[in-house]
Amino acid sequence: MVDLRSDTVTRPTPGMLEAIVSAEVGDDVFGDDPTVHLLEEKMAGLFGMEAAIFCPSGTMTNQIAVKVHTEPGHEVICDESSHIYRYEGGGIAFNSGVSVRLIHGDRGRITSKDIQDNINANDVHQPVTSMVSIENTCNKGGGSVYDFSAIEGIRKVCTRDGLMLHLDGARLFNAIVKTGAHPVSFGKICDSISICLSKGLGAPVGSVLIGKKEFITKARRIRKVMGGAMRQAGYLAAAGIYATENHVDRLKDDHTRAHEIEEVLGTMPYVQEIWPVETNIIVFKLISSFKQEVFINKLAEKEVLVVGFGPQTIRMVTHLDIHDQDVEHLRTVLKKL
Ligand SMILES: *Cc1c(COP(=O)(O)O)cnc(C)c1O
Repeated sequence: MVDLRSDTVTRPTPGMLEAIVSAEVGDDVFGDDPTVHLLEEKMAGLFGMEAAIFCPSGTMTNQIAVKVHTEPGHEVICDESSHIYRYEGGGIAFNSGVSVRLIHGDRGRITSKDIQDNINANDVHQPVTSMVSIENTCNKGGGSVYDFSAIEGIRKVCTRDGLMLHLDGARLFNAIVKTGAHPVSFGKICDSISICLSKGLGAPVGSVLIGKKEFITKARRIRKVMGGAMRQAGYLAAAGIYATENHVDRLKDDHTRAHEIEEVLGTMPYVQEIWPVETNIIVFKLISSFKQEVFINKLAEKEVLVVGFGPQTIRMVTHLDIHDQDVEHLRTVLKKL
C-alpha cells in the first residue's frame, strides 16, 4: 500500500522500536521518568528556550498554549485555515472560552499588517486581543513555509501590543530543513512552540510544547486537567528522542519526492491546478469532469491512498514510509487513469 493520506501513518522503524524497548522509564506524573525529562530538556535546548512539556497530541499542545496565554473573553488572531481553529473540535471556545479573529491569509500565512489591522481597540464592547497563532508549515496551505522575516515582523507587532505569539510547529522541522533556519531563531521570537513528533518525524505518539519556565509550569497544570499527564511515558518519549536524532535530515527526501509527484501531476490532463509544493504536502485540484470521489476510489483500487481536501481537491503527503518505488508506482497509476 502506498499511503499518502498523511505523514501520521508511519510505523516505527526497527531503530526506533529498539529505542522504545530499551527506554528507562518511571512514573512521569510523579516526575520520575528520566526519558521524558531528557526529551523535554533536549527540545527546550534545541530551540534555545527554557522548558518543555511532552503531551499526547498536537491538539493538546496547541490547546494548552491557548489556555495559558489567554483569559475567557479574550480573542486569538489566526488564519482561517489554521489547524488550531479548523481541526481541533472548537477547542479554543470549549477549553478556553476565547473567540477567534480569522485572517484570510496567503495559503495559511498571515502578515504583521493583518494582525495590526485586527487588534481590537481598548473598548468594553470588544474581546481583548491577547494572542496570535501562526502555523509553519501550514497544513491547509499545502505545506507552505513562512519567510523568517515575516515572523520577525509579526513578533514586532506582538511585542508592541502585548500579544503572546504561539507557533503551531506541527511540521516546523519541515520548514527548518527547507529554509536552513536554525531552531533557536524560532525559539528567540516565539512565546511558545508546539512540535509534533508523530508527523514527518515518524514517532508513534506525541507532541512537545516549548516555552518559558513559568509558561511550562502553568502548562503542566492544564495538561493534568485535560487528562494528558501520562505514567511510563518514557517509552513514547524515547521514540521522540530517536526521531529528533535520526529523522530530521531525511525530511529533505520527503520534499524531493513531493516535488517529483508535483512534476508528474503537472503533466496530467485531469489536473487543473497544483499549489506550489514547498515541503512534503501536495495539494491539487481536479478538472470538474473527473469527480474527486472517483479519483480517490480509482487510486485505492491500485493500492494508493489519498484524501479529499475540499471540493475537487486532493492532498498527498510524503513521509518516512514512502520510498522511490512508491513514487514510481504512483507515477504509473496516475498515467493510466
Ligand atoms: C497534525 C497537526 C496538529 C496536531 O494534531 P494531532 O493529530 O492532535 O497531533 C496541529 N497542527 C497542525 C498544523 C497539524 O498538522
